[in-house]
Amino acid sequence: MPGLEDLYREIILDHYRNPRNNGTLEVPPAHHAEGFNPLCGDEVAVYLDVDDGRVTDVKITGQGCSISKASASMMSVAVKGKSVAEARAITRAFKGMMSIHENELDGTTTETDDDGAEIKLGDLEALRGVVKFASRIKCATLAWNTLGIGLDDATSEAAPQR
Ligand code: ZN
Repeated sequence: MPGLEDLYREIILDHYRNPRNNGTLEVPPAHHAEGFNPLCGDEVAVYLDVDDGRVTDVKITGQGCSISKASASMMSVAVKGKSVAEARAITRAFKGMMSIHENELDGTTTETDDDGAEIKLGDLEALRGVVKFASRIKCATLAWNTLGIGLDDATSEAAPQR
């Protein structure tokens, strides 16, 4: 029986080799944010369609290491179709998992959404092992930080005239 680490490695490699939601969206109406991780040279661009408080579509382009590419792909799957509030809650939970300082002791992350329901990280748990390699944490969080910029951009505008 393969160990959990093997399973996690397979999930990461699968997202790296077959990135989900790869591509761009037309801006505007979509929102666009770019991130760069100078420690590793990772680049990511996140395109978001946000309609009525919901992330209706997300596309990713970029280049970088396997961790940054896999994390971006997994992020796109995790937030697509979710409300902006849910997307932010998942982001907080993921970054909590990636924070060695806050979760040094037991490595557990409990984040709840606005209704108090616990956030399930699912496949994102596969990236938990990255915490052991401090220099790679920014590779894993790059796409999520960039998503946050995009969500801020998408929600700071006045509602369009209809
Ligand atoms: Zn990297």
